[in-house]
Amino acid sequence: MHEPRAPSPSPAESPAASPVEIVSIGTELLLGRIQDSNSFWLAQQVADLGGAVQRITTIGDDQPTIVDLLRDAVARGAGTIITTGGLGPTPDDLTVAAVAELLGVGTVLDRPTVEDYLRRRAIREEELTPALRAMATVPMGAEIFPSPAGWAPLIRARMDGCSIFLLPGPPQEVQAIFARYLADHFGGEGGARGLVHRVYVDMWESEVSPMLQQVMDAVPGTYIKGYIALGNQRFLPIDVLARGADDHAAQASLDRALDLLASLVAETGRDFQR
Ligand code: ATP
Ligand code: MG
Repeated sequence: MHEPRAPSPSPAESPAASPVEIVSIGTELLLGRIQDSNSFWLAQQVADLGGAVQRITTIGDDQPTIVDLLRDAVARGAGTIITTGGLGPTPDDLTVAAVAELLGVGTVLDRPTVEDYLRRRAIREEELTPALRAMATVPMGAEIFPSPAGWAPLIRARMDGCSIFLLPGPPQEVQAIFARYLADHFGGEGGARGLVHRVYVDMWESEVSPMLQQVMDAVPGTYIKGYIALGNQRFLPIDVLARGADDHAAQASLDRALDLLASLVAETGRDFQR
């Protein structure tokens, strides 16, 4: 039995600071049958932990496409890639084979994962189903972490300083694995933080947007966006996001940004609801 442990970053790495890419794998996503909620959820988590997602990609269950995309993401300088989907036992589950091809390694049956399955199913090795055998098959040299929520384990491969985390597709498994392992990868408690606060102004987007830009320019590490599609007749919702090296720094930036925006709106005599 392998002890669950967190994939801790080495001191040289700074996962929260280096670009993150999220890759959703599944042909059903491209066909409009299932909405890609995994990348939406993951992007929110990474942002909360002060990370910077530079790209989200959705691709089908096609091995060459997966290999090319991962290679390109590493070449773009991603420090962390998180994929979801394609770790199951069906013929369209190709993520492990794709990563093995990318790294130029074979695949291997992970013994601790097999032991885990035998214990959980209370079966002998001869009784191991092809499905379980497939889900215990991993790229050679990868690190394996047992799933707190399903059968497919979390797989971590490394290439040119980039950590590639392979997660299964089911959203509840993605969420449990992220909470158990990935949060720590991004610094966990006490690490970098992203905070967000929604405010409302009774202004047109075109009136307020120069002020949003002014605040972003004045307070480094902030991003401010008005959501015209969410507004009612009078009030425009605006999200103010701030990133900092820790909770305190992020809160200080957020407060500065909110104060500055409030004063700019106040000069126009319009309403600002905080
Ligand atoms: P399984 O072991 O269930 O086969 P898997 O890792 O192979 O897991 P998929 O087969 O790709 O994952 O997907 C499993 C389930 O999760 C399916 O119902 C699929 O539609 C759903 N799913 C996959 N990717 C996403 C996504 N990005 N957002 C939301 N749901 C997803
Ligand atoms: Mg599957």
